[in-house]
Amino acid sequence: MSSKKIPEKNGRNSFDAIVIGSGISGGWAAKELCEKGLKTLVLERGRDVKHIKDYPTATKAPWELPHRGHETQKIKDDEPVVSRCYAFNEATAHFFVKDTEQPYIQEKPFDWIRGYQVGGKSLIWARQTQRWSNYEFRNPSRDNYAIDWPIDHDDLALWYSYVEKFVGISGNLDKLKTLPDSECLPPWEMNKVEKEIRSDILDAYDDRHVIIGRCAHLTEPNPIHLEQGRGKCQARNLCYRGCPYGAYFSSNSSTLPAAEKTGNLTMRPYSIVTSIIYDDNMKKAVGVRIVDTETKEKLVFFADIIFLNAATENTNMILLNSRSERFPNGLGNDNGLLGKYICFHNYRGSLTATRPGNLDSYYYGRRPTSVVIPNFSNVESHDKPFLGGYMTFYTAARKSWNRIIEGDQIGAAYKNEISRPGEWSIYMMMQGETIPKQENHIRLSSDKTDRWGLPQMIASVDYDDNDESLLRDFFEQGEAMLKVAGCENIQRNDSRQSPGLDIHVMGGVRMGRSPKDSLLNANNQLHHCKNVFVTDGACMTTTGVQNPSLTYMALTARAVDFAARAWKEGAL
Ligand SMILES: Cc1cc2nc3c(=O)[nH]c(=O)nc-3n(C[C@H](O)[C@H](O)[C@H](O)COP(=O)(O)OP(=O)(O)OC[C@H]3O[C@@H](n4cnc5c(N)ncnc54)[C@H](O)[C@@H]3O)c2cc1C
Ligand code: SF4
Repeated sequence: MSSKKIPEKNGRNSFDAIVIGSGISGGWAAKELCEKGLKTLVLERGRDVKHIKDYPTATKAPWELPHRGHETQKIKDDEPVVSRCYAFNEATAHFFVKDTEQPYIQEKPFDWIRGYQVGGKSLIWARQTQRWSNYEFRNPSRDNYAIDWPIDHDDLALWYSYVEKFVGISGNLDKLKTLPDSECLPPWEMNKVEKEIRSDILDAYDDRHVIIGRCAHLTEPNPIHLEQGRGKCQARNLCYRGCPYGAYFSSNSSTLPAAEKTGNLTMRPYSIVTSIIYDDNMKKAVGVRIVDTETKEKLVFFADIIFLNAATENTNMILLNSRSERFPNGLGNDNGLLGKYICFHNYRGSLTATRPGNLDSYYYGRRPTSVVIPNFSNVESHDKPFLGGYMTFYTAARKSWNRIIEGDQIGAAYKNEISRPGEWSIYMMMQGETIPKQENHIRLSSDKTDRWGLPQMIASVDYDDNDESLLRDFFEQGEAMLKVAGCENIQRNDSRQSPGLDIHVMGGVRMGRSPKDSLLNANNQLHHCKNVFVTDGACMTTTGVQNPSLTYMALTARAVDFAARAWKEGAL
């Protein structure tokens, strides 16, 4: 990608468009803007990460890592927040932000998990990609716990298809109303026990579906993927280290190279955007201010269109910090709702169990997805004592060598026993919707700053009674499903994890129909500053039950299409 040297247009550091952040949504904004012919500057606060070359641990065996891949106690003590993320370990730590790097204030416990580099969290995501259905878009206002979404699945369907074809999504055509089909590559296969559990559940319930999860892995690359230089997934599940085959979707392997190919991309790493510049006379945003983290210089870049894709918390912070005479409380914030209605996914509940039999059955490789039971709560009507719903995931696997074995932990008998796979163990977990509430918010500290002089984030986000009620329902329903499926030793586990650790934090700059109660319109434009677009998680009005990133991608491609057309017509 081009270096930091900035071409000058009209004697200024000017571009047609600026994209803030190069992660999942920023990568899509960059690709689409560049392919539509706009000279585009991507400002990325982190370092550059080149596909393949900068994946130093991708092919390392455990014995090639100083602590066999595990974090040390010192790292857990020094970095308590990031080390709580399940994907953070010795082999992936270089893609995560350490706690000490960017302090923030937890008014209520909040685990802020970040990936600051070219590619953002697209390098370290779990790649589960389920479309939203119209139930996710419409039920929140039907049940009166959120404002009306200004769009629904029908508005996004074309854009889902468009991004899915490029990304490569594996899955089945399941024909479910609660989980619309993607454009699918061949699915991963359920193993024998997962299939048995599926048929037991389907026999016992008439409101449940059980499908293999859809994920952004190339099971059979199409020409569109081979042209990107990406190949077939090897089912190794070492993905969080970066994939040298480009077999899972990341900005680094996919969208950013596509943007670069157009000749319209300028990538500027080490560039923290501090605020957006609003021109009172022109009544629009004209550019952004940055700090160069290598030279410590403060610089300004100009553009006609600005896409904010810094991930939910940072996007909120940049807007809150963009104060002007016209917008003293943050850009576009006339209604005072910027930073509010933050919501997230409730991942607290999981169940473990064992299932007897099938000791002659095993499975191939390390499949990068699990079995999914789409939401069955409050779907056609409000039929549960809580609001919203949840998706359920389960996997079945043979216990490994590290299982507890009775008797001597030494000697030939022990060695023989651990050389064989153990009984089948089942893991089931929830992904629950949370209700967007005004009191769950992010704001800027008035006296504490980070090392760049920027106000620290204050996070004030918590669970409520609805989350507890939904969690109870998951435990009851999950346990009942495992029982009908012949499972034993069923154990409930409430992780009590803090909000944020789900890494699906959304809202603060929500979309809506009216500037009175939302910040963005149906095209992701700020109601009051039409050339600024927000298409990352900050734009989400509600959380739905699905993993969100596929929706961010579709929203981004759709918003760029609108923005580029408006720009060409001189309307921006
Ligand atoms: C372990 C893990 C598992 C996950 N699993 C899934 C999953 O299975 N499915 C799913 O849908 N989602 C998953 N996610 C969430 C997913 O990663 C995010 O939803 C997605 O990356 C968000 O995209 P984004 O573009 O908004 O942000 P990011 O990908 O985080 O990119 C934001 C970029 O903006 C940059 N930036 C931030 N502030 C500034 C600034 N001031 N100036 C310039 N640049 C800035 C950052 O450095 C970063 O590169 C997972 C995340 C993690 C960590
Ligand atoms: S499992 Fe597939 S996507 Fe993940 S690192 Fe291996 S080859 Fe790449």
